[in-house]
Amino acid sequence: MEERLIAPCGMNCGLCVNHLAMKNDLNKQGFRKTYCAGCLPRGKNCVFMKNKCDLLGNGLVRFCFECGDFPCSRLKNLDKRYRTKYHMSMLENLEFIKEHGIKEFLEKEEAKWRCPECGEQICCHNGLCLNCDIDTLRKNKKYRWGE
Ligand SMILES: [Zn+2]
Repeated sequence: MEERLIAPCGMNCGLCVNHLAMKNDLNKQGFRKTYCAGCLPRGKNCVFMKNKCDLLGNGLVRFCFECGDFPCSRLKNLDKRYRTKYHMSMLENLEFIKEHGIKEFLEKEEAKWRCPECGEQICCHNGLCLNCDIDTLRKNKKYRWGE
């Protein structure tokens, strides 16, 4: 997992459905997914909040915890949505990076989200490995974490 895949808000773009769809080229297998290289690789800094935050919009912070307002209400709302629906927490990620550094974080993430079948990363948006479990997604395009 690459450092550039960790967005300023703490999102791990390597777990995102649009990134994993691209990595596994799902559109060649009959899907119609948006492909995304990741917030930072695309030069977007932060897709979620760039229009509402000058620091993020202009790329002035690498991580949100460098900001005096951390954690702001926008980030808290985003974090709540992701904790509730997608089994991950931006705030938890950021706190970990702040305390232990990005290298240790990447190692932890890699182990936490590793598919036991193929070693690729599980997608946080649906809980599937987009290398092994695409039949599940084919049967139910809106499949999310067992629902
Ligand atoms: Zn797999």
